[in-house]
Order: sequence, then structure tokens, then C-alpha cells
Amino acid sequence: MMHWGYDEHNGPSRWKELFPLATGDRQSPIDIQTETTKYDPTLRPLYPNYDPSSAKVILNNGHSTSVEFDDTENKSVLSGGPLIGNYRLRQIHFHWGPSDDIGSEHAVDGTKFAAELHVVHWNADKYASFVEAAGQPDGLAVMAVFLQVGECNSQLKKITDHLDAIKIKGKRHRFTNFDPSCLLPHSLDYWTYLGSLTSPPLLESVIWIILREPISVCSEQLAKFRNLLCTGEGEAAFCMLRNFRPPQPLRGREVRRN
Ligand SMILES: [Zn+2]
Repeated sequence: MMHWGYDEHNGPSRWKELFPLATGDRQSPIDIQTETTKYDPTLRPLYPNYDPSSAKVILNNGHSTSVEFDDTENKSVLSGGPLIGNYRLRQIHFHWGPSDDIGSEHAVDGTKFAAELHVVHWNADKYASFVEAAGQPDGLAVMAVFLQVGECNSQLKKITDHLDAIKIKGKRHRFTNFDPSCLLPHSLDYWTYLGSLTSPPLLESVIWIILREPISVCSEQLAKFRNLLCTGEGEAAFCMLRNFRPPQPLRGREVRRN
């Protein structure tokens, strides 16, 4: 396997060949068994506080599409919930599947959603850089939002309208004046557990915060994500039809809820 991806020859079941952490004790995503989650009265509400001017660029990295934020200061931060201090916004990206009935990474009682949004933050109170934080057990905080098929989402349109401009792997486009809290559901109730990045290098550094209420997405919007290419300029074109990792073993971890 030369490069990891999501195809038969380089997909999640083969990542362990290059990244032994794939079989670790703290891997993500997981299937959340709601009956076994533990209510924790000490868990606080979440406080996302994002500055729209910190959004910089939207890009296609060949595995997903992401919006990257200026994280040189505490302009956009997430605090509260299970977190100690401020976690600085780094980027947001999406996971989806080949059809509308699969695509999310986390599952709830075995049920998958059409897609999943990840809002990635790092612990800038404690660490000097995103890269340093990504190697620490409390380094990253990722807020996950499920996308459920229904009405077209007018907030999501801000992103899907730009996907044509970054169709090819490696393309990037200026993207600012965007507050990702426009993509959050009404309720910020959540589940939380300790896990990992869901793509290589699969580092076990993520405090996961999974919002319980999904947001909506329509089939037409999902199709726009699938139309992105995982291949670059001059290569035979392949569409990004799937980019999710399936649920991993819980291995005794506790999932708490607020
Ligand atoms: Zn992700």
C-alpha cells in the first residue's frame, strides 16, 4: 500500500499495515450505544465562540473538503463541555458515503447518518502548535455533527456552492466571513468519549464531543460532495464517493452524556 485512502486496496481495513495504531485501545469512530452511556452531572454546556473573519480557505485535500481557519491566536475557540480551558478552531471537514443511507463515521445504536461534520480544535492553552497537540492525549477536541437527509440546508449551501471551484485534489479557494456555528443544531447536548483521529495517522489525541441532534442535508447537496475528485490535475479522475472509517472497538471506554 503506497498511499492510504478509502478504496478496497488502501482502505480502512488495510491502514494497520502502515499505521499500527489502527488497532489501538482508543480508536475512533465508535458505535454509541445510547442505553449504556453514562449521565454525568459535572459535564458543562458547550460554548463555541467563533470569529467569522478567522475563516481563510476552502480546499480539496484528496480525502475530504475542509475549511481552514487562522489559528495563530484565540480568535475562534470552543470551551465548556468536557474541556479544560480553550480549544482553538483549526478546521472543519466532512465525511460522507456512496449513498444517502451511509456516510457518517460514528453510529448511534447501530444507525448511520448520511454524513458527518467534524469541527477540529486544539489545546492552545497547553501546547505550542496543532502538530504538537495532535500527539498528546488531551491535545485535540473534535465536535461532530450528524447530517440527516431532509430539507436542503441553507447554511450548508455556503460550502456546497464552493465545491465546483475545488473539484480537483489540491485546489483551494479563498473562503472567509464564515462562522461554523451556523452549521450547529439548535440543541448542543452531546455525548463525549476519548478517541482518535479517524484517518491516518490515527493519533489517540481526540476528546470527542458528538452532538445528539442532527442537522439536515438534502440529496442534491450530498451529491455535490460525491462529485469532488480524490485525484489531481492530469490523473485519471476518481470521485470521492466515500471517506468514512467504520466504528472501532470500544475496549472498555466510557461514553458520557450531559
Ligand atoms: Zn473527520
